[in-house]
Amino acid sequence: TEKPLKVAVTGAAGQIGYSLLFRLASGALTGDRPVELRLLEIEPALKTLEGVVMELDDCAFPGLAGIEIGSEAETIFDGVNLALLVGARPRGPGMERGDLLEANGAIFTAQGKALNSVAADDVRIGVTGNPANTNALIALKNAPDIPAERFSALTRLDHNRAISQLAAKTGAPVTDITKMTIWGNHSATQYPDLFRAEVGGRNAAEVVGDQEWLENTFIPTVAKRGAAIIEARGSSSAASAASATIDAARDWLYGSAAGDWVSMAVVSDGSYGVPEGLVSSFPVTTRDGDWTIVEGLEIDDFSRGRIDASTAELADERDAVTQLGLI
Ligand code: NDP
Repeated sequence: TEKPLKVAVTGAAGQIGYSLLFRLASGALTGDRPVELRLLEIEPALKTLEGVVMELDDCAFPGLAGIEIGSEAETIFDGVNLALLVGARPRGPGMERGDLLEANGAIFTAQGKALNSVAADDVRIGVTGNPANTNALIALKNAPDIPAERFSALTRLDHNRAISQLAAKTGAPVTDITKMTIWGNHSATQYPDLFRAEVGGRNAAEVVGDQEWLENTFIPTVAKRGAAIIEARGSSSAASAASATIDAARDWLYGSAAGDWVSMAVVSDGSYGVPEGLVSSFPVTTRDGDWTIVEGLEIDDFSRGRIDASTAELADERDAVTQLGLI
Protein backbone atom coordinates (compact mmCIF):
# COMPACT_ATOMS: atom_id res chain seq x y z
CA THR A 1 0.00 0.00 0.00
CA GLU A 2 0.99 3.60 -0.59
CA LYS A 3 2.53 5.70 2.17
CA PRO A 4 -0.11 7.85 3.88
CA LEU A 5 -0.43 11.48 2.83
CA LYS A 6 0.42 13.55 5.89
CA VAL A 7 -2.17 16.30 6.16
CA ALA A 8 -2.02 19.08 8.75
CA VAL A 9 -5.19 20.96 9.66
CA THR A 10 -5.06 24.06 11.86
CA GLY A 11 -8.04 25.25 13.86
CA ALA A 12 -9.05 21.60 13.83
CA ALA A 13 -11.53 21.92 16.71
CA GLY A 14 -13.50 24.64 14.89
CA GLN A 15 -16.67 24.44 12.83
CA ILE A 16 -14.96 23.90 9.49
CA GLY A 17 -12.65 21.34 11.08
CA TYR A 18 -15.63 19.38 12.34
CA SER A 19 -16.71 18.75 8.77
CA LEU A 20 -13.31 18.70 7.09
CA LEU A 21 -11.63 16.05 9.24
CA PHE A 22 -14.29 13.41 8.61
CA ARG A 23 -14.21 14.02 4.87
CA LEU A 24 -10.41 13.77 4.81
CA ALA A 25 -10.46 10.59 6.90
CA SER A 26 -13.09 8.97 4.69
CA GLY A 27 -10.95 9.39 1.56
CA ALA A 28 -12.66 12.39 -0.09
CA LEU A 29 -9.23 13.84 -0.88
CA THR A 30 -6.98 10.85 -1.45
CA GLY A 31 -9.32 8.02 -2.48
CA ASP A 32 -7.62 4.74 -1.57
CA ARG A 33 -4.43 6.36 -0.34
CA PRO A 34 -4.45 6.50 3.48
CA VAL A 35 -4.14 9.82 5.31
CA GLU A 36 -2.37 10.71 8.52
CA LEU A 37 -3.97 13.68 10.26
CA ARG A 38 -1.86 16.18 12.19
CA LEU A 39 -4.12 18.59 13.99
CA LEU A 40 -3.07 21.95 15.38
CA GLU A 41 -5.10 23.90 17.90
CA ILE A 42 -4.53 26.60 20.42
CA GLU A 43 -4.06 25.24 23.93
CA PRO A 44 -7.60 26.08 25.23
CA ALA A 45 -9.20 24.16 22.33
CA LEU A 46 -7.21 20.93 22.78
CA LYS A 47 -9.82 19.34 25.01
CA THR A 48 -12.54 19.90 22.41
CA LEU A 49 -10.17 18.50 19.82
CA GLU A 50 -9.69 15.36 21.91
CA GLY A 51 -13.45 14.85 21.67
CA VAL A 52 -13.33 15.17 17.90
CA VAL A 53 -10.51 12.63 17.80
CA MET A 54 -12.68 10.23 19.84
CA GLU A 55 -15.35 10.55 17.15
CA LEU A 56 -12.82 10.01 14.38
CA ASP A 57 -11.70 6.85 16.19
CA ASP A 58 -15.31 5.74 16.46
CA CYS A 59 -15.79 5.94 12.69
CA ALA A 60 -13.15 3.20 12.27
CA PHE A 61 -12.16 4.74 8.93
CA PRO A 62 -10.10 2.13 7.06
CA GLY A 63 -7.97 4.84 5.39
CA LEU A 64 -7.09 6.78 8.53
CA ALA A 65 -3.48 5.84 9.27
CA GLY A 66 -2.95 7.96 12.38
CA ILE A 67 -3.80 11.16 14.23
CA GLU A 68 -1.56 13.50 16.15
CA ILE A 69 -2.81 16.60 17.94
CA GLY A 70 -1.00 19.47 19.61
CA SER A 71 -0.49 23.20 19.96
CA GLU A 72 3.11 23.42 18.72
CA ALA A 73 3.28 24.17 14.98
CA GLU A 74 6.84 22.81 14.68
CA THR A 75 5.72 19.44 16.02
CA ILE A 76 2.44 19.17 14.13
CA PHE A 77 3.84 20.34 10.77
CA ASP A 78 6.75 17.89 10.90
CA GLY A 79 6.97 16.12 7.55
CA VAL A 80 3.54 17.21 6.29
CA ASN A 81 2.80 16.97 2.57
CA LEU A 82 -0.28 19.17 2.77
CA ALA A 83 -1.15 21.88 5.27
CA LEU A 84 -4.70 23.21 5.40
CA LEU A 85 -4.57 26.43 7.39
CA VAL A 86 -8.13 26.85 8.60
CA GLY A 87 -7.70 28.35 12.05
CA ALA A 88 -7.72 32.12 12.15
CA ARG A 89 -8.69 34.82 14.56
CA PRO A 90 -12.27 35.95 13.96
CA ARG A 91 -13.11 39.64 14.07
CA GLY A 92 -14.29 40.39 17.60
CA PRO A 93 -16.49 43.28 18.77
CA GLY A 94 -14.77 46.64 18.35
CA MET A 95 -11.88 45.14 16.40
CA GLU A 96 -10.60 47.29 13.56
CA ARG A 97 -9.34 45.84 10.29
CA GLY A 98 -5.77 46.62 11.38
CA ASP A 99 -6.27 44.70 14.64
CA LEU A 100 -7.55 41.72 12.66
CA LEU A 101 -4.59 41.78 10.29
CA GLU A 102 -2.22 42.07 13.24
CA ALA A 103 -3.79 39.18 15.20
CA ASN A 104 -3.73 36.95 12.16
CA GLY A 105 -0.31 38.19 11.22
CA ALA A 106 1.07 36.72 14.42
CA ILE A 107 -0.52 33.34 13.61
CA PHE A 108 0.55 33.19 9.97
CA THR A 109 4.11 34.44 10.50
CA ALA A 110 4.64 31.69 13.10
CA GLN A 111 3.03 29.03 10.93
CA GLY A 112 4.99 30.12 7.84
CA LYS A 113 8.23 29.83 9.80
CA ALA A 114 7.30 26.43 11.21
CA LEU A 115 6.37 25.07 7.77
CA ASN A 116 9.63 26.45 6.42
CA SER A 117 11.66 24.48 8.90
CA VAL A 118 9.81 21.16 9.26
CA ALA A 119 7.35 20.46 6.41
CA ALA A 120 8.09 17.81 3.77
CA ASP A 121 9.96 18.92 0.62
CA ASP A 122 6.82 18.49 -1.46
CA VAL A 123 4.51 20.44 0.89
CA ARG A 124 1.47 22.29 -0.51
CA ILE A 125 -0.25 24.88 1.71
CA GLY A 126 -3.89 25.92 1.36
CA VAL A 127 -5.21 28.83 3.43
CA THR A 128 -8.92 28.89 4.34
CA GLY A 129 -8.79 31.10 7.46
CA ASN A 130 -9.65 34.74 6.77
CA PRO A 131 -8.44 37.18 5.54
CA ALA A 132 -7.26 34.20 3.47
CA ASN A 133 -5.37 35.92 0.64
CA THR A 134 -3.34 38.13 2.94
CA ASN A 135 -2.81 35.34 5.47
CA ALA A 136 -1.34 33.27 2.62
CA LEU A 137 0.89 36.19 1.63
CA ILE A 138 2.16 36.52 5.21
CA ALA A 139 2.83 32.77 5.48
CA LEU A 140 4.70 32.56 2.18
CA LYS A 141 6.86 35.59 2.98
CA ASN A 142 7.82 33.92 6.26
CA ALA A 143 8.77 30.66 4.52
CA PRO A 144 11.64 31.72 2.26
CA ASP A 145 12.78 28.15 1.52
CA ILE A 146 9.37 27.02 0.25
CA PRO A 147 8.59 28.15 -3.30
CA ALA A 148 5.83 30.80 -3.27
CA GLU A 149 3.86 28.67 -5.77
CA ARG A 150 3.23 26.12 -3.00
CA PHE A 151 0.86 28.52 -1.22
CA SER A 152 -2.71 29.25 -2.18
CA ALA A 153 -5.77 30.81 -0.59
CA LEU A 154 -9.27 29.43 -0.95
CA THR A 155 -11.63 30.98 -3.49
CA ARG A 156 -13.08 27.61 -4.41
CA LEU A 157 -16.14 28.11 -2.23
CA ASP A 158 -16.93 31.31 -4.13
CA HIS A 159 -16.29 29.41 -7.37
CA ASN A 160 -18.67 26.62 -6.36
CA ARG A 161 -21.29 29.14 -5.26
CA ALA A 162 -21.04 30.89 -8.63
CA ILE A 163 -21.50 27.57 -10.46
CA SER A 164 -24.53 26.75 -8.34
CA GLN A 165 -26.16 30.16 -8.92
CA LEU A 166 -25.59 29.96 -12.68
CA ALA A 167 -26.96 26.42 -12.81
CA ALA A 168 -30.11 27.54 -10.99
CA LYS A 169 -30.57 30.54 -13.30
CA THR A 170 -30.13 28.58 -16.54
CA GLY A 171 -31.66 25.26 -15.48
CA ALA A 172 -28.46 23.50 -16.51
CA PRO A 173 -26.90 20.82 -14.29
CA VAL A 174 -23.74 21.94 -12.48
CA THR A 175 -21.77 19.47 -14.58
CA ASP A 176 -22.60 21.52 -17.71
CA ILE A 177 -20.98 24.64 -16.28
CA THR A 178 -17.30 25.13 -17.04
CA LYS A 179 -14.64 27.83 -17.06
CA MET A 180 -15.99 29.68 -14.05
CA THR A 181 -13.55 32.21 -12.62
CA ILE A 182 -13.37 34.11 -9.36
CA TRP A 183 -10.91 36.98 -9.68
CA GLY A 184 -9.24 38.91 -6.85
CA ASN A 185 -9.78 38.78 -3.11
CA HIS A 186 -11.93 36.34 -1.10
CA SER A 187 -14.00 39.26 0.16
CA ALA A 188 -16.97 41.37 -0.85
CA THR A 189 -14.92 42.78 -3.76
CA GLN A 190 -14.37 39.38 -5.40
CA TYR A 191 -15.40 39.18 -9.05
CA PRO A 192 -17.25 36.06 -10.20
CA ASP A 193 -16.91 36.22 -13.99
CA LEU A 194 -19.63 34.97 -16.35
CA PHE A 195 -18.04 36.44 -19.49
CA ARG A 196 -15.57 33.61 -19.77
CA ALA A 197 -17.74 30.87 -18.21
CA GLU A 198 -19.69 28.41 -20.33
CA VAL A 199 -23.02 26.60 -20.05
CA GLY A 200 -23.03 23.47 -22.17
CA GLY A 201 -20.15 24.93 -24.19
CA ARG A 202 -21.91 28.26 -24.87
CA ASN A 203 -20.80 31.59 -23.41
CA ALA A 204 -22.55 31.99 -20.04
CA ALA A 205 -23.09 35.77 -20.24
CA GLU A 206 -24.78 35.28 -23.64
CA VAL A 207 -26.90 32.37 -22.41
CA VAL A 208 -28.07 34.49 -19.47
CA GLY A 209 -28.45 37.59 -21.68
CA ASP A 210 -29.26 39.80 -18.72
CA GLN A 211 -26.57 42.25 -17.62
CA GLU A 212 -28.89 43.64 -14.93
CA TRP A 213 -29.18 40.17 -13.30
CA LEU A 214 -25.47 39.57 -13.68
CA GLU A 215 -24.52 42.86 -11.99
CA ASN A 216 -27.25 43.29 -9.41
CA THR A 217 -28.23 39.74 -8.50
CA PHE A 218 -25.57 37.22 -9.48
CA ILE A 219 -22.43 39.02 -8.30
CA PRO A 220 -23.84 40.20 -4.94
CA THR A 221 -25.51 36.84 -4.27
CA VAL A 222 -22.21 35.03 -4.70
CA ALA A 223 -20.23 37.63 -2.74
CA LYS A 224 -22.71 37.79 0.17
CA ARG A 225 -23.65 34.13 0.32
CA GLY A 226 -21.80 33.59 3.60
CA ALA A 227 -23.88 36.26 5.34
CA ALA A 228 -27.11 34.83 3.87
CA ILE A 229 -26.26 31.41 5.31
CA ILE A 230 -25.50 32.83 8.75
CA GLU A 231 -28.86 34.62 8.59
CA ALA A 232 -30.73 31.43 7.62
CA ARG A 233 -28.86 28.79 9.59
CA GLY A 234 -27.77 30.77 12.60
CA SER A 235 -24.17 29.75 12.09
CA SER A 236 -21.61 30.01 9.35
CA SER A 237 -21.21 28.02 6.16
CA ALA A 238 -18.73 25.59 7.63
CA ALA A 239 -19.65 22.40 5.75
CA SER A 240 -19.51 24.03 2.33
CA ALA A 241 -16.24 25.74 3.25
CA ALA A 242 -14.83 22.33 4.24
CA SER A 243 -16.10 20.79 1.00
CA ALA A 244 -14.49 23.54 -1.07
CA THR A 245 -11.23 23.15 0.87
CA ILE A 246 -11.19 19.49 -0.20
CA ASP A 247 -12.16 20.27 -3.81
CA ALA A 248 -9.30 22.76 -4.05
CA ALA A 249 -6.71 20.42 -2.54
CA ARG A 250 -7.85 17.44 -4.62
CA ASP A 251 -7.61 19.34 -7.90
CA TRP A 252 -4.25 20.79 -6.91
CA LEU A 253 -2.74 17.40 -6.08
CA TYR A 254 -4.52 15.25 -8.64
CA GLY A 255 -5.31 17.69 -11.48
CA SER A 256 -8.19 19.76 -12.79
CA ALA A 257 -10.58 18.38 -15.43
CA ALA A 258 -9.57 18.49 -19.10
CA GLY A 259 -11.19 21.38 -20.97
CA ASP A 260 -11.98 23.22 -17.76
CA TRP A 261 -10.26 25.31 -15.13
CA VAL A 262 -10.69 26.18 -11.44
CA SER A 263 -10.27 29.32 -9.32
CA MET A 264 -7.37 29.52 -6.90
CA ALA A 265 -5.76 32.51 -5.21
CA VAL A 266 -2.07 32.24 -6.02
CA VAL A 267 0.91 34.55 -6.16
CA SER A 268 0.57 36.84 -9.16
CA ASP A 269 3.22 36.93 -11.89
CA GLY A 270 1.60 40.10 -13.23
CA SER A 271 -0.87 38.24 -15.47
CA TYR A 272 -4.02 40.18 -16.36
CA GLY A 273 -2.59 43.35 -14.84
CA VAL A 274 -2.73 41.93 -11.29
CA PRO A 275 0.26 43.45 -9.47
CA GLU A 276 3.08 40.95 -9.17
CA GLY A 277 3.42 39.31 -5.77
CA LEU A 278 -0.18 39.70 -4.60
CA VAL A 279 -2.03 36.49 -3.71
CA SER A 280 -5.04 36.93 -5.98
CA SER A 281 -7.59 34.55 -7.45
CA PHE A 282 -7.12 33.52 -11.08
CA PRO A 283 -8.38 30.90 -13.49
CA VAL A 284 -5.84 28.08 -13.21
CA THR A 285 -5.32 24.58 -14.49
CA THR A 286 -3.62 22.17 -12.14
CA ARG A 287 -1.58 19.03 -12.51
CA ASP A 288 0.53 16.95 -10.10
CA GLY A 289 0.61 19.64 -7.43
CA ASP A 290 1.40 22.52 -9.78
CA TRP A 291 -0.90 25.25 -11.07
CA THR A 292 -0.70 27.34 -14.21
CA ILE A 293 -2.64 30.56 -14.77
CA VAL A 294 -4.83 30.29 -17.88
CA GLU A 295 -3.36 32.85 -20.26
CA GLY A 296 -4.70 34.77 -23.21
CA LEU A 297 -8.28 35.47 -22.09
CA GLU A 298 -9.76 38.71 -23.45
CA ILE A 299 -10.87 40.98 -20.61
CA ASP A 300 -13.82 43.28 -21.33
CA ASP A 301 -14.08 46.74 -19.72
CA PHE A 302 -16.70 45.72 -17.14
CA SER A 303 -14.54 42.83 -15.93
CA ARG A 304 -11.40 45.01 -16.00
CA GLY A 305 -12.98 47.45 -13.56
CA ARG A 306 -14.08 44.67 -11.20
CA ILE A 307 -10.71 42.93 -11.24
CA ASP A 308 -8.87 46.21 -10.62
CA ALA A 309 -11.12 47.09 -7.67
CA SER A 310 -10.52 43.76 -5.96
CA THR A 311 -6.78 43.73 -6.56
CA ALA A 312 -6.58 47.33 -5.25
CA GLU A 313 -8.05 46.02 -2.00
CA LEU A 314 -5.42 43.29 -1.91
CA ALA A 315 -2.70 45.88 -2.46
CA ASP A 316 -4.08 47.88 0.50
CA GLU A 317 -4.00 44.78 2.70
CA ARG A 318 -0.41 44.10 1.62
CA ASP A 319 0.55 47.69 2.47
CA ALA A 320 -1.08 47.33 5.89
CA VAL A 321 0.80 44.13 6.77
CA THR A 322 4.02 45.59 5.38
CA GLN A 323 3.60 48.57 7.70
CA LEU A 324 3.00 46.19 10.60
CA GLY A 325 6.34 44.56 9.75
CA LEU A 326 4.73 41.17 9.12
CA ILE A 327 6.23 40.70 5.66
P1 NDP B 1 -14.50 28.18 11.51
O1 NDP B 1 -13.94 26.82 11.53
O2 NDP B 1 -15.94 28.37 11.22
O3 NDP B 1 -13.67 29.10 10.49
C1 NDP B 1 -12.26 29.12 10.48
C2 NDP B 1 -11.78 30.17 9.54
O4 NDP B 1 -12.22 29.89 8.22
C3 NDP B 1 -12.25 31.59 9.85
O5 NDP B 1 -11.15 32.46 9.64
C4 NDP B 1 -13.30 31.84 8.82
O6 NDP B 1 -13.35 33.19 8.43
C5 NDP B 1 -12.75 31.06 7.66
N1 NDP B 1 -13.70 30.78 6.61
C6 NDP B 1 -13.42 30.77 5.29
N2 NDP B 1 -14.48 30.51 4.57
C7 NDP B 1 -15.50 30.34 5.42
C8 NDP B 1 -16.87 30.06 5.25
N3 NDP B 1 -17.42 29.92 4.07
N4 NDP B 1 -17.63 29.91 6.34
C9 NDP B 1 -17.11 30.06 7.53
N5 NDP B 1 -15.82 30.36 7.76
C10 NDP B 1 -15.01 30.50 6.71
O7 NDP B 1 -14.16 28.95 12.85
P2 NDP B 1 -14.24 28.47 14.36
O8 NDP B 1 -14.15 29.72 15.15
O9 NDP B 1 -15.30 27.48 14.58
O10 NDP B 1 -12.90 27.66 14.53
C11 NDP B 1 -11.65 28.24 14.41
C12 NDP B 1 -10.71 27.39 15.21
O11 NDP B 1 -9.42 27.88 14.94
C13 NDP B 1 -10.93 27.49 16.72
O12 NDP B 1 -11.04 26.17 17.23
C14 NDP B 1 -9.67 28.18 17.22
O13 NDP B 1 -9.25 27.66 18.47
C15 NDP B 1 -8.71 27.82 16.15
N6 NDP B 1 -7.55 28.65 15.98
C16 NDP B 1 -6.39 27.97 15.81
C17 NDP B 1 -5.23 28.59 15.63
C18 NDP B 1 -4.01 27.75 15.48
O14 NDP B 1 -4.11 26.61 15.09
N7 NDP B 1 -2.85 28.28 15.75
C19 NDP B 1 -5.15 30.06 15.60
C20 NDP B 1 -6.43 30.70 15.73
C21 NDP B 1 -7.59 30.00 15.91
P3 NDP B 1 -14.39 34.26 9.04
O15 NDP B 1 -13.93 34.52 10.44
O16 NDP B 1 -14.22 35.43 8.13
O17 NDP B 1 -15.73 33.61 8.97
